[in-house]
Amino acid sequence: MDFQFTKEQQDIRTAARDFAEKEFPEIAGRIDEKEEFPFELWKKACELGLIGCFIPEEYGGAGYGVTEQCCIAEEFFRVDPGCGQCMNSVAVGSEVILMFGSEKQKKTFLPPLARGETIMGIAITEPDAGSDVLSVATTAERRGNEFIITGSKMFITNGSIGNYLVVYCMTSPEKDKASERFSMIIVETDRPGYESNKLRGKLGIRASDTAEVRFTDVKVPTHNLVGEEGKGFPYLMRFFGRTRVMVAATGVGLAQGALERAVGHIKRRRQFGKPLSDFQGNRFKLAEMATLVEAARNLTYKAAADVDRGILDSAVIAMAKWYSAWVAVHVADESLQMHGGYGYMAEYDISRFYRDAKILEIYEGTKEIEKEIIARSFLAKQFT
Ligand SMILES: Cc1cc2nc3c(=O)[nH]c(=O)nc-3n(C[C@H](O)[C@H](O)[C@H](O)COP(=O)(O)OP(=O)(O)OC[C@H]3O[C@@H](n4cnc5c(N)ncnc54)[C@H](O)[C@@H]3O)c2cc1C
Repeated sequence: MDFQFTKEQQDIRTAARDFAEKEFPEIAGRIDEKEEFPFELWKKACELGLIGCFIPEEYGGAGYGVTEQCCIAEEFFRVDPGCGQCMNSVAVGSEVILMFGSEKQKKTFLPPLARGETIMGIAITEPDAGSDVLSVATTAERRGNEFIITGSKMFITNGSIGNYLVVYCMTSPEKDKASERFSMIIVETDRPGYESNKLRGKLGIRASDTAEVRFTDVKVPTHNLVGEEGKGFPYLMRFFGRTRVMVAATGVGLAQGALERAVGHIKRRRQFGKPLSDFQGNRFKLAEMATLVEAARNLTYKAAADVDRGILDSAVIAMAKWYSAWVAVHVADESLQMHGGYGYMAEYDISRFYRDAKILEIYEGTKEIEKEIIARSFLAKQFT
């Protein structure tokens, strides 16, 4: 067991930190207020190899593991969760293509993501199917060498700016086992019948694009099917195995950023003739926040290291995801509290961190669903 990052991981972390510290602060408040995706920032991050970094070198990426990906995600969220979310999400869904796609799909869809020419997303959630992914109703009917896709998806990241989406849809409604009814199909968003409606007014990560999308008889060639028909559900679980660890890393980064802002503020701000950092209440609070962040970090990188070694322990991944998200929400709340009235004002970063934190407990599986996974895993074990 080794709790140290390698030299290469440290260098990747430093590169991500330097980039974020140089580029994020100047635009973070504005893109949040205007709900604008930062296209220029995305291009710059691509030039530095910070986007789609897990894509293997043969398909144009850096070939990093989940651990390295987490280092980048953590550093981005530490500086600004809104900018970080935009950067981390532009290649989401490509994990499915990477793990299960054909060679032709990998060559077609992965290199342009790393080069900064395309943006993608993954469409699972529907108006009537959120946590219950087995109740998804979007259908893909095979007709000759095409699928005809019909249905609606909700809350799709990059739904209105993406070039293609991996769509989780029903291909075999007749199957007795619900888990065998679904498939993953790549849909280019310029196909006739695809419509998106950008959703405005989010609580946080407001620069990130979120859309409801509709498929009206969208025709896609059958070679856009990822992997095997009927394997969509197990593929989705494998996808979550990677992306939930990523969300955990963003929670660690957000909490770290909130913690650092609290430290800065209580050292600067004076009340009753001395700095706020002299008051034991604040010192204990700080100690607890720092401990929570470190615990979340250890759990997250334990899960990341497991995934990189090919171990998919869904309970450990779920622990990392709900715990880091909770730590992010809690630490952002405590940090804002330590800022007093100033923390409530938009010009202070912490107000944005506070709003941005909440999504981590909702997307990629709510905290209740994560806890359900953990409970199920423990209840399945035999204890004497
Ligand atoms: C900003 C944003 C971006 C998103 N991006 C994407 C995306 O790119 N692609 C995508 O497909 N989806 C995306 N989502 C959707 C997200 O994954 C879902 O919102 C989430 O899975 C929860 O589904 P729901 O909103 O339908 O809530 P519901 O499933 O209706 O749940 C509501 C509440 O009930 C609880 N609950 C539900 N079932 C149970 C249960 N069995 N036991 C205990 N509690 C339960 C939940 O935990 C939650 O607290 C995004 C959402 C947002 C807000």
